[in-house]
Amino acid sequence: MKALVFHGPGKTSWQDVPDPAIEDPADAVVRVDTVTICGTDLHIVKGDVPEVASGRVLGHEAVGTVVDAGPGVRTVRPGDRVLVSCISACGRCRFCRENRYGQCRGGGGWILGHLVDGTQAEYVRVPFADLSLHPLPSAVRSEDAVLLADIFPTAYEVGVLAGQVAPGDTVVVVGAGPVGLAAIATARFFTPGRIIAVDLADTRLAAARELGADATVNAAEEPAKLVEDLTGGLGADVAVEAVGVPETFELCTRVVRPGGRVANVGVHGKPAVLHLEDLWIRDVTITTGLVDTFSTPLLLDMLASGRLPSSRLVTHRFPLDRMEEAYEVFAKAADTGALKVVLGEPPHDTVVAA
Ligand code: NAD
Ligand code: ZN
Repeated sequence: MKALVFHGPGKTSWQDVPDPAIEDPADAVVRVDTVTICGTDLHIVKGDVPEVASGRVLGHEAVGTVVDAGPGVRTVRPGDRVLVSCISACGRCRFCRENRYGQCRGGGGWILGHLVDGTQAEYVRVPFADLSLHPLPSAVRSEDAVLLADIFPTAYEVGVLAGQVAPGDTVVVVGAGPVGLAAIATARFFTPGRIIAVDLADTRLAAARELGADATVNAAEEPAKLVEDLTGGLGADVAVEAVGVPETFELCTRVVRPGGRVANVGVHGKPAVLHLEDLWIRDVTITTGLVDTFSTPLLLDMLASGRLPSSRLVTHRFPLDRMEEAYEVFAKAADTGALKVVLGEPPHDTVVAA
Protein backbone atom coordinates (compact mmCIF):
# COMPACT_ATOMS: atom_id res chain seq x y z
CA MET A 1 0.00 0.00 0.00
CA LYS A 2 0.97 3.66 -0.15
CA ALA A 3 1.59 5.75 2.95
CA LEU A 4 3.14 9.03 4.09
CA VAL A 5 6.41 8.00 5.72
CA PHE A 6 8.55 10.18 8.00
CA HIS A 7 12.28 9.96 7.23
CA GLY A 8 13.72 12.30 9.85
CA PRO A 9 13.42 16.09 10.19
CA GLY A 10 12.25 17.80 7.00
CA LYS A 11 11.83 14.56 5.05
CA THR A 12 8.65 12.65 4.22
CA SER A 13 7.49 10.67 1.20
CA TRP A 14 4.30 9.10 -0.14
CA GLN A 15 5.64 5.64 -0.89
CA ASP A 16 5.07 1.88 -0.90
CA VAL A 17 5.11 0.17 2.51
CA PRO A 18 3.92 -3.32 3.58
CA ASP A 19 0.15 -3.65 4.20
CA PRO A 20 -0.70 -3.64 7.91
CA ALA A 21 -2.10 -6.85 9.43
CA ILE A 22 -3.65 -7.92 12.72
CA GLU A 23 -0.86 -8.31 15.30
CA ASP A 24 -2.91 -8.59 18.49
CA PRO A 25 -6.39 -10.08 19.02
CA ALA A 26 -7.72 -6.59 19.93
CA ASP A 27 -6.54 -4.99 16.64
CA ALA A 28 -8.58 -4.00 13.62
CA VAL A 29 -7.33 -3.03 10.17
CA VAL A 30 -9.17 -0.10 8.63
CA ARG A 31 -9.16 1.05 4.99
CA VAL A 32 -8.67 4.80 5.14
CA ASP A 33 -11.40 6.64 3.22
CA THR A 34 -10.93 10.16 4.61
CA VAL A 35 -7.94 11.56 6.45
CA THR A 36 -6.65 14.93 7.55
CA ILE A 37 -3.40 16.59 8.60
CA CYS A 38 -2.87 18.07 12.06
CA GLY A 39 -0.62 20.90 13.21
CA THR A 40 1.08 18.24 15.32
CA ASP A 41 2.09 16.41 12.12
CA LEU A 42 3.88 19.59 11.03
CA HIS A 43 5.71 19.62 14.38
CA ILE A 44 6.76 15.99 13.82
CA VAL A 45 8.02 16.76 10.32
CA LYS A 46 10.04 19.68 11.69
CA GLY A 47 11.68 17.30 14.18
CA ASP A 48 9.99 18.70 17.31
CA VAL A 49 8.68 15.28 18.43
CA PRO A 50 11.82 13.15 18.75
CA GLU A 51 9.99 9.93 19.81
CA VAL A 52 8.71 9.59 16.23
CA ALA A 53 11.10 7.16 14.58
CA SER A 54 12.32 7.41 11.02
CA GLY A 55 10.18 5.07 8.89
CA ARG A 56 6.98 5.83 10.84
CA VAL A 57 3.72 6.33 8.91
CA LEU A 58 2.22 9.63 10.13
CA GLY A 59 -1.39 10.65 10.88
CA HIS A 60 -3.78 10.20 13.80
CA GLU A 61 -7.16 11.25 12.35
CA ALA A 62 -9.27 9.25 9.88
CA VAL A 63 -12.61 7.83 8.82
CA GLY A 64 -12.50 4.45 7.14
CA THR A 65 -13.98 1.01 6.70
CA VAL A 66 -13.03 -1.97 8.84
CA VAL A 67 -11.53 -4.68 6.63
CA ASP A 68 -10.28 -7.09 9.29
CA ALA A 69 -10.81 -7.48 13.02
CA GLY A 70 -8.90 -9.65 15.49
CA PRO A 71 -10.71 -12.40 17.42
CA GLY A 72 -10.86 -10.20 20.55
CA VAL A 73 -12.73 -7.32 18.87
CA ARG A 74 -16.41 -7.17 19.89
CA THR A 75 -17.87 -3.84 18.78
CA VAL A 76 -16.91 -3.47 15.10
CA ARG A 77 -16.97 -5.87 12.14
CA PRO A 78 -15.55 -5.84 8.62
CA GLY A 79 -17.63 -3.47 6.51
CA ASP A 80 -18.36 -1.00 9.33
CA ARG A 81 -17.65 2.67 8.62
CA VAL A 82 -15.74 4.03 11.60
CA LEU A 83 -14.04 7.09 13.02
CA VAL A 84 -10.45 6.40 14.06
CA SER A 85 -9.79 8.39 17.24
CA CYS A 86 -6.46 10.13 17.77
CA ILE A 87 -6.35 8.41 21.19
CA SER A 88 -6.28 4.64 21.60
CA ALA A 89 -7.33 3.12 24.92
CA CYS A 90 -6.62 -0.23 26.57
CA GLY A 91 -9.76 0.26 28.67
CA ARG A 92 -8.28 -1.59 31.60
CA CYS A 93 -5.67 0.60 33.26
CA ARG A 94 -6.36 3.02 36.09
CA PHE A 95 -6.51 6.05 33.78
CA CYS A 96 -8.80 4.41 31.22
CA ARG A 97 -11.15 3.52 34.09
CA GLU A 98 -11.30 7.24 34.90
CA ASN A 99 -12.03 8.16 31.22
CA ARG A 100 -8.51 9.60 31.01
CA TYR A 101 -7.70 7.65 27.86
CA GLY A 102 -5.02 10.14 26.82
CA GLN A 103 -2.98 9.01 29.84
CA CYS A 104 -3.51 5.25 29.17
CA ARG A 105 -0.79 3.13 30.77
CA GLY A 106 -1.76 -0.09 29.02
CA GLY A 107 -0.18 0.66 25.64
CA GLY A 108 -2.72 3.23 24.40
CA GLY A 109 -2.84 7.04 24.56
CA TRP A 110 -1.63 9.03 21.56
CA ILE A 111 0.16 6.24 19.70
CA LEU A 112 -1.12 6.44 16.09
CA GLY A 113 1.32 8.27 13.84
CA HIS A 114 3.53 8.71 16.91
CA LEU A 115 4.64 5.37 18.38
CA VAL A 116 2.92 3.06 15.86
CA ASP A 117 2.09 3.56 12.17
CA GLY A 118 -0.74 6.03 11.59
CA THR A 119 -3.62 6.94 9.33
CA GLN A 120 -2.05 8.85 6.42
CA ALA A 121 -2.05 5.66 4.41
CA GLU A 122 -4.36 3.42 2.41
CA TYR A 123 -4.78 1.12 5.44
CA VAL A 124 -4.07 1.43 9.16
CA ARG A 125 -3.83 -1.09 12.00
CA VAL A 126 -5.75 0.24 15.00
CA PRO A 127 -4.82 -1.27 18.39
CA PHE A 128 -7.57 -1.71 21.04
CA ALA A 129 -10.16 -1.38 18.28
CA ASP A 130 -13.18 -1.61 20.62
CA LEU A 131 -12.33 1.64 22.40
CA SER A 132 -10.36 3.38 19.65
CA LEU A 133 -12.94 3.18 16.83
CA HIS A 134 -16.41 4.74 16.76
CA PRO A 135 -18.97 3.25 14.34
CA LEU A 136 -20.55 6.09 12.34
CA PRO A 137 -24.27 6.58 11.77
CA SER A 138 -25.12 6.86 8.07
CA ALA A 139 -26.41 10.42 8.57
CA VAL A 140 -22.88 11.63 9.27
CA ARG A 141 -20.62 12.50 6.35
CA SER A 142 -17.04 11.23 6.56
CA GLU A 143 -15.62 14.68 5.90
CA ASP A 144 -17.49 16.11 8.90
CA ALA A 145 -16.73 13.16 11.15
CA VAL A 146 -12.99 13.18 10.53
CA LEU A 147 -12.71 16.46 12.46
CA LEU A 148 -13.99 14.59 15.52
CA ALA A 149 -10.87 12.41 15.61
CA ASP A 150 -8.85 15.13 17.34
CA ILE A 151 -9.63 18.83 17.10
CA PHE A 152 -13.25 18.83 18.26
CA PRO A 153 -12.75 16.62 21.34
CA THR A 154 -9.55 18.57 22.11
CA ALA A 155 -11.28 21.93 22.00
CA TYR A 156 -14.34 20.68 23.86
CA GLU A 157 -12.62 18.66 26.61
CA VAL A 158 -9.41 20.60 27.23
CA GLY A 159 -10.88 24.03 26.45
CA VAL A 160 -14.64 24.24 27.06
CA LEU A 161 -15.19 21.55 29.71
CA ALA A 162 -11.95 22.19 31.59
CA GLY A 163 -12.79 25.91 31.52
CA GLN A 164 -16.32 25.10 32.80
CA VAL A 165 -18.05 27.43 30.35
CA ALA A 166 -21.48 28.26 31.77
CA PRO A 167 -24.55 30.20 30.60
CA GLY A 168 -23.87 33.93 30.44
CA ASP A 169 -20.09 33.61 30.64
CA THR A 170 -17.70 35.84 28.77
CA VAL A 171 -15.33 33.42 27.02
CA VAL A 172 -12.10 34.60 25.44
CA VAL A 173 -10.54 32.20 22.94
CA VAL A 174 -6.94 33.09 22.15
CA GLY A 175 -5.92 31.53 18.84
CA ALA A 176 -8.47 30.96 16.06
CA GLY A 177 -6.82 28.02 14.31
CA PRO A 178 -8.84 24.80 13.93
CA VAL A 179 -8.69 24.10 17.68
CA GLY A 180 -9.69 27.64 18.71
CA LEU A 181 -12.51 27.63 16.15
CA ALA A 182 -13.74 24.28 17.46
CA ALA A 183 -13.63 25.75 20.98
CA ILE A 184 -15.82 28.64 19.81
CA ALA A 185 -18.30 26.23 18.18
CA THR A 186 -18.51 23.92 21.23
CA ALA A 187 -18.54 26.72 23.84
CA ARG A 188 -21.88 27.64 22.28
CA PHE A 189 -23.41 24.40 23.65
CA PHE A 190 -23.48 26.23 27.00
CA THR A 191 -24.94 29.53 25.79
CA PRO A 192 -22.19 31.84 26.96
CA GLY A 193 -23.01 35.55 27.13
CA ARG A 194 -20.33 36.40 24.61
CA ILE A 195 -17.34 34.82 22.91
CA ILE A 196 -14.34 37.00 22.09
CA ALA A 197 -11.76 35.59 19.66
CA VAL A 198 -8.14 36.78 19.52
CA ASP A 199 -5.71 35.99 16.71
CA LEU A 200 -2.97 37.67 14.69
CA ALA A 201 -4.51 36.74 11.34
CA ASP A 202 -7.58 38.66 10.20
CA THR A 203 -8.66 35.73 7.98
CA ARG A 204 -8.84 33.54 11.08
CA LEU A 205 -10.80 36.21 12.95
CA ALA A 206 -13.28 36.24 10.06
CA ALA A 207 -13.62 32.44 10.40
CA ALA A 208 -14.13 32.93 14.17
CA ARG A 209 -17.05 35.28 13.51
CA GLU A 210 -18.55 32.72 11.14
CA LEU A 211 -18.36 30.00 13.79
CA GLY A 212 -20.02 32.13 16.43
CA ALA A 213 -17.58 34.61 17.98
CA ASP A 214 -19.45 37.79 18.98
CA ALA A 215 -16.38 40.00 18.97
CA THR A 216 -12.90 39.58 17.51
CA VAL A 217 -9.69 41.44 18.12
CA ASN A 218 -6.27 41.25 16.56
CA ALA A 219 -3.67 40.22 19.16
CA ALA A 220 -1.60 43.23 18.11
CA GLU A 221 -4.44 45.62 19.10
CA GLU A 222 -4.80 45.44 22.88
CA PRO A 223 -7.11 42.47 23.37
CA ALA A 224 -6.98 42.94 27.16
CA LYS A 225 -8.46 46.42 26.77
CA LEU A 226 -11.37 45.12 24.68
CA VAL A 227 -12.12 42.39 27.24
CA GLU A 228 -12.02 44.97 30.01
CA ASP A 229 -14.38 47.30 28.12
CA LEU A 230 -16.85 44.54 27.29
CA THR A 231 -16.97 43.21 30.86
CA GLY A 232 -17.19 46.47 32.77
CA GLY A 233 -13.58 46.11 33.91
CA LEU A 234 -14.12 42.66 35.42
CA GLY A 235 -12.39 40.37 32.90
CA ALA A 236 -13.43 37.11 31.26
CA ASP A 237 -15.00 34.19 33.11
CA VAL A 238 -13.04 31.75 30.96
CA ALA A 239 -9.93 32.20 28.81
CA VAL A 240 -9.02 29.35 26.45
CA GLU A 241 -5.40 29.27 25.26
CA ALA A 242 -5.32 27.65 21.79
CA VAL A 243 -1.95 28.73 20.42
CA GLY A 244 0.90 27.33 22.52
CA VAL A 245 3.33 30.24 22.90
CA PRO A 246 4.26 32.11 26.12
CA GLU A 247 2.61 35.41 25.08
CA THR A 248 -0.81 33.86 24.61
CA PHE A 249 -0.74 31.94 27.89
CA GLU A 250 0.28 35.13 29.69
CA LEU A 251 -2.47 37.06 27.88
CA CYS A 252 -5.02 34.52 29.13
CA THR A 253 -3.91 35.02 32.73
CA ARG A 254 -4.25 38.80 32.26
CA VAL A 255 -7.74 38.83 30.74
CA VAL A 256 -9.35 36.37 33.19
CA ARG A 257 -11.50 37.80 36.01
CA PRO A 258 -10.93 37.04 39.70
CA GLY A 259 -12.31 33.55 40.31
CA GLY A 260 -12.16 32.81 36.58
CA ARG A 261 -10.59 29.91 34.71
CA VAL A 262 -7.74 29.64 32.21
CA ALA A 263 -7.92 26.46 30.14
CA ASN A 264 -4.64 25.83 28.37
CA VAL A 265 -4.99 23.73 25.21
CA GLY A 266 -1.87 24.83 23.31
CA VAL A 267 1.16 22.57 23.14
CA HIS A 268 4.05 24.63 24.52
CA GLY A 269 7.65 24.20 23.46
CA LYS A 270 9.04 26.97 25.66
CA PRO A 271 8.49 28.02 29.28
CA ALA A 272 5.80 30.64 29.89
CA VAL A 273 5.91 33.02 32.86
CA LEU A 274 3.35 32.30 35.56
CA HIS A 275 2.81 35.69 37.20
CA LEU A 276 1.98 34.35 40.65
CA GLU A 277 2.82 37.76 42.09
CA ASP A 278 -0.40 39.01 40.40
CA LEU A 279 -2.41 35.82 40.34
CA TRP A 280 -2.10 34.55 43.92
CA ILE A 281 -4.77 36.93 45.19
CA ARG A 282 -7.25 36.44 42.34
CA ASP A 283 -8.64 32.89 42.91
CA VAL A 284 -7.79 31.94 39.35
CA THR A 285 -7.87 28.29 38.22
CA ILE A 286 -5.48 27.16 35.48
CA THR A 287 -5.98 23.81 33.78
CA THR A 288 -3.82 21.85 31.32
CA GLY A 289 -4.53 18.66 29.45
CA LEU A 290 -4.05 16.20 26.68
CA VAL A 291 -7.27 15.25 24.92
CA ASP A 292 -8.87 11.99 26.14
CA THR A 293 -11.62 11.73 23.47
CA PHE A 294 -14.18 10.58 26.06
CA SER A 295 -16.57 13.14 24.51
CA THR A 296 -16.44 11.73 20.97
CA PRO A 297 -19.79 9.85 21.20
CA LEU A 298 -21.52 13.02 22.40
CA LEU A 299 -19.88 15.11 19.68
CA LEU A 300 -20.97 12.55 17.06
CA ASP A 301 -24.55 12.90 18.32
CA MET A 302 -24.32 16.68 18.08
CA LEU A 303 -22.93 16.33 14.55
CA ALA A 304 -25.71 13.93 13.51
CA SER A 305 -28.33 16.36 14.79
CA GLY A 306 -26.80 19.28 12.92
CA ARG A 307 -25.46 21.12 15.96
CA LEU A 308 -21.76 20.96 15.10
CA PRO A 309 -20.58 23.03 12.12
CA SER A 310 -17.47 20.88 11.63
CA SER A 311 -17.22 20.97 7.83
CA ARG A 312 -16.97 24.77 7.92
CA LEU A 313 -13.36 24.18 8.98
CA VAL A 314 -12.53 22.26 5.80
CA THR A 315 -10.96 24.60 3.27
CA HIS A 316 -9.13 22.21 0.94
CA ARG A 317 -9.74 18.72 -0.42
CA PHE A 318 -7.36 16.35 -2.20
CA PRO A 319 -7.32 12.72 -3.31
CA LEU A 320 -5.24 10.55 -1.00
CA ASP A 321 -2.31 10.23 -3.40
CA ARG A 322 -1.77 14.01 -3.36
CA MET A 323 -0.69 13.84 0.30
CA GLU A 324 2.59 15.67 -0.24
CA GLU A 325 0.83 18.58 -1.96
CA ALA A 326 -1.76 18.66 0.83
CA TYR A 327 1.05 18.96 3.40
CA GLU A 328 2.48 21.92 1.49
CA VAL A 329 -0.86 23.71 1.36
CA PHE A 330 -1.48 23.06 5.07
CA ALA A 331 2.04 24.11 6.10
CA LYS A 332 1.65 27.44 4.25
CA ALA A 333 -1.68 28.28 5.91
CA ALA A 334 -0.89 32.00 6.04
CA ASP A 335 -0.66 32.12 2.22
CA THR A 336 -3.18 29.43 1.29
CA GLY A 337 -5.85 30.26 3.88
CA ALA A 338 -5.93 26.58 4.88
CA LEU A 339 -7.78 25.61 8.06
CA LYS A 340 -8.28 21.87 7.67
CA VAL A 341 -7.12 19.93 4.63
CA VAL A 342 -9.06 16.72 3.97
CA LEU A 343 -7.91 13.89 1.71
CA GLY A 344 -9.76 10.93 0.30
CA GLU A 345 -13.31 10.29 -0.87
CA PRO A 346 -14.88 12.55 -3.49
CA PRO A 347 -15.29 15.45 -4.04
CA HIS A 348 -11.65 15.19 -5.04
CA ASP A 349 -11.23 18.60 -6.63
CA THR A 350 -9.10 21.03 -4.75
CA VAL A 351 -11.18 23.88 -3.43
CA VAL A 352 -9.17 27.03 -3.11
CA ALA A 353 -10.11 28.91 0.02
CA ALA A 354 -11.18 32.51 -0.10
P1 NAD B 1 -2.79 26.53 14.51
O1 NAD B 1 -1.33 26.74 14.49
O2 NAD B 1 -3.50 26.18 13.25
O3 NAD B 1 -3.53 27.81 15.10
C1 NAD B 1 -2.95 28.67 16.01
C2 NAD B 1 -3.55 30.06 15.79
O4 NAD B 1 -2.92 30.94 16.72
C3 NAD B 1 -3.30 30.62 14.38
O5 NAD B 1 -4.52 31.05 13.83
C4 NAD B 1 -2.33 31.79 14.63
O6 NAD B 1 -2.54 32.86 13.75
C5 NAD B 1 -2.66 32.16 16.07
N1 NAD B 1 -1.58 32.85 16.77
C6 NAD B 1 -0.23 32.66 16.68
N2 NAD B 1 0.42 33.48 17.51
C7 NAD B 1 -0.52 34.22 18.13
C8 NAD B 1 -0.49 35.27 19.10
N3 NAD B 1 0.66 35.71 19.61
N4 NAD B 1 -1.66 35.78 19.53
C9 NAD B 1 -2.84 35.35 19.05
N5 NAD B 1 -2.94 34.37 18.11
C10 NAD B 1 -1.79 33.83 17.67
O7 NAD B 1 -3.05 25.40 15.62
P2 NAD B 1 -4.33 24.51 15.96
O8 NAD B 1 -4.31 23.27 15.12
O9 NAD B 1 -5.55 25.34 16.01
O10 NAD B 1 -3.93 24.06 17.44
C11 NAD B 1 -3.84 25.02 18.48
C12 NAD B 1 -2.96 24.49 19.61
O11 NAD B 1 -3.58 23.33 20.20
C13 NAD B 1 -1.58 24.02 19.13
O12 NAD B 1 -0.61 24.40 20.09
C14 NAD B 1 -1.74 22.51 19.10
O13 NAD B 1 -0.50 21.85 19.19
C15 NAD B 1 -2.61 22.32 20.33
N6 NAD B 1 -3.26 21.02 20.48
C16 NAD B 1 -3.37 20.54 21.75
C17 NAD B 1 -3.96 19.32 21.99
C18 NAD B 1 -4.11 18.83 23.39
O14 NAD B 1 -4.48 17.67 23.57
N7 NAD B 1 -3.86 19.64 24.39
C19 NAD B 1 -4.44 18.54 20.91
C20 NAD B 1 -4.34 19.07 19.62
C21 NAD B 1 -3.74 20.31 19.40
ZN1 ZN C 1 -5.46 2.40 29.45
